[in-house]
Amino acid sequence: MRRVMDAFGGAEGILAGRKRVLVKPNLVMPKKPEAAATTHPAVVAAVCRAFVKAGAEVYIIDSNIAPHSVPVLNVMYKSSGMDKAAAESGAQLCFDVATRKTERAENRTLTSFPCLAPVLDTELLVTVGKAKTHGLAYFTGTVKNLFGVLPGMEKPNIHRKFPAAADFMSAIVDICETVKPGFAVLDGVVGMEGDGPTAGTPKAFGVILGGANPHAVDLAACHLMSLRPERVPALAEAAARGLVPRSADKLTWLGDETARLITVFRPPKTERVGGFFLRHLIPKRLNRRLRAVMAKYPVISPRCGGCGECARICPQKTITMDGKKAVVDEKNCIKCYCCHEFCSMRAIDFRGR
Ligand code: SF4
Ligand code: SF4
Repeated sequence: MRRVMDAFGGAEGILAGRKRVLVKPNLVMPKKPEAAATTHPAVVAAVCRAFVKAGAEVYIIDSNIAPHSVPVLNVMYKSSGMDKAAAESGAQLCFDVATRKTERAENRTLTSFPCLAPVLDTELLVTVGKAKTHGLAYFTGTVKNLFGVLPGMEKPNIHRKFPAAADFMSAIVDICETVKPGFAVLDGVVGMEGDGPTAGTPKAFGVILGGANPHAVDLAACHLMSLRPERVPALAEAAARGLVPRSADKLTWLGDETARLITVFRPPKTERVGGFFLRHLIPKRLNRRLRAVMAKYPVISPRCGGCGECARICPQKTITMDGKKAVVDEKNCIKCYCCHEFCSMRAIDFRGR
């Protein structure tokens, strides 16, 4: 972590006189660090420690899909090890649950949204993402991580509003451009492959990336994870807006020689064959409609324990409980895969047409 930050002038250089820092890890759901779904507390502690030592006041913050409240934050910080990361680094856990609407007229898809107030009030926002494959986004790193600046139960609204992955990820790029993180770190010491962001398999990767441009950090990560950037809607959108090059060989790489770091990450099961045809040979508008039709549906497996969590977070309210089993009404499903993401029993599979 020190080597990454030193490449950008160290914590003092990144701070550039700013004193108040908000560190935003990926705490997608209450999970132990070894599950590799959340940013590892050792990485968060290292980031925080560097800024604290440089004289900054550092806070850790996130909000997952649950009411944004102090009791929920307590569980989230404890289960992910953020309480220890804060204690050992001298940072503080943020329990300020105030939210505020923010606007940015230049955004392409999402021009206003409710945001955690401390994110808007901080001097420096640092996104500390986790290197994972993702059922809807294909890859999640430092940019998708910023979906967490929206208070908990606002997230299903954004899924409902933008059901197509390309539109949804365009909204995520807008969120990133609005809250403008000043530095981005990616925890790829152990990443996640397959059915991420929560039900995939931990994957030893041995990489920490950092940079001033979160889109560039994500592009570098995809290169090292053998994920083609044109398959990642957030990167395609950022490249179309001129925020990042289309190819990792156009990036300025500092640090280790990268060839030996390249690792093959298994993509999520939601990925379908025919992707090349859909992406390159038909018009964009039709492409979105076809992908919406062709994307896989969630299917409840016999492993369902009837906890009802998927029904609670489904943006379409298209999951009902039949006794002790969840049931999906496919006709209203927008294939956002939130249900899959939040099923702790890994009881949700996918089925194509
Ligand atoms: S979250 Fe999983 S275990 Fe809980 S009801 Fe839904 S499918 Fe069943
Ligand atoms: S059933 Fe699952 S994939 Fe379909 S809309 Fe609900 S949460 Fe999204």
